[in-house]
Amino acid sequence: MSVRAKKHLGQHFLTDENIAKNIVDGLTYNPGGKVLEIGPGMGVLTKYILEKDTELFLAEIDTESIQYLKTNYATLDEEHFVGDFLKLNIAETFADEISIIGNFPYNISSQILFKIIDYYQNIPEMVGMFQKEVAERTAAVPRTKDYGILSVLVQALYDVKYLFTVHENVFNPPPKVKSGVIRLTRNPKEGLTGNEVLFKQIVKAGFGQRRKKLSNSLKVLNIPEKLQTHEFMSKRAEELSVADFIGFTKLWKSYL
Ligand code: SAH
Repeated sequence: MSVRAKKHLGQHFLTDENIAKNIVDGLTYNPGGKVLEIGPGMGVLTKYILEKDTELFLAEIDTESIQYLKTNYATLDEEHFVGDFLKLNIAETFADEISIIGNFPYNISSQILFKIIDYYQNIPEMVGMFQKEVAERTAAVPRTKDYGILSVLVQALYDVKYLFTVHENVFNPPPKVKSGVIRLTRNPKEGLTGNEVLFKQIVKAGFGQRRKKLSNSLKVLNIPEKLQTHEFMSKRAEELSVADFIGFTKLWKSYL
């Protein structure tokens, strides 16, 4: 018996074992270190992770999948399962650091990424499959249409590497779009600490009206007098690098 795919849970089961292996091999395994898989489903990734020297936890909300995993992988029992990822308090549940892996439910992709950012102090690395568009937006560089809030907020804390693209026909049922696998490696950028809140506000306001110059889009934030003539004010958000945004935030803070 296999699990019946439920659309509302974003279930698209990967059927290609080589791709599953490649995703699992994309993560660094520190001996005995903790790994959290989000949305294991029928365990196509899980079985390869279990071959690694690691302490595995599974965030899965589908009771049918959980039952399937317990039945088919003898070593998996109750203590491996931590429930809904979006409800998980990562810092409290795992005490120390934990890496994240998964072929994620695409209906909650950005929520997963924003949660990883929120808990970046606990999460050194993530390897995961998203719909290709989200993977590309996360990895995007300045002056491209994909470069935006997601790119800047993630890249301020993590180096992002786009690993490979996955065709829709290796899933059951096939999703409507191609998928992309990315790796995040924690690397908080210089100068961000202590300025995170303002940084987020500036990035969000800047890209909120991405076709406007920053002098316009940032008006909602009460631009400090001394910044009015800054060279970035005549640029658009997508022209600024992550380092530019961080430097600009620092300067802004110093004028408050
Ligand atoms: N990893 C499996 C399944 C991917 S489908 C494979 O590659 O075949 C996405 C999985 O995420 C499903 O099993 C779905 O039940 C699960 N899921 C959906 N929402 C979730 C949530 N909020 N927390 C944890 N798992 C979730």
